[in-house]
Amino acid sequence: MNAVAEETIEETKERVLTLNDRCDAGSCGAAALAKVTGVSGSLFFCGHHFTKYENTEGMKKFAFETIDERWAMLNENRLKAD
Ligand SMILES: [Zn+2]
Repeated sequence: MNAVAEETIEETKERVLTLNDRCDAGSCGAAALAKVTGVSGSLFFCGHHFTKYENTEGMKKFAFETIDERWAMLNENRLKAD
């Protein structure tokens, strides 16, 4: 049996968030990696602040749609490390 090596699939996920989307937490202002949409609007979070708030009760009550693009940060870090 000819085992065909699995192709390494490049990360081709499209990012929804852009560099114009900035973290809404306090005066952070870092590039957003997560967007949380709730009944009263949307909030953006950087990776740091989304990790900090994602499992809080307030977030769970507020959010009905969450876009989590922290994978993009991980990819960038991996590229930098090479
Ligand atoms: Zn932030």
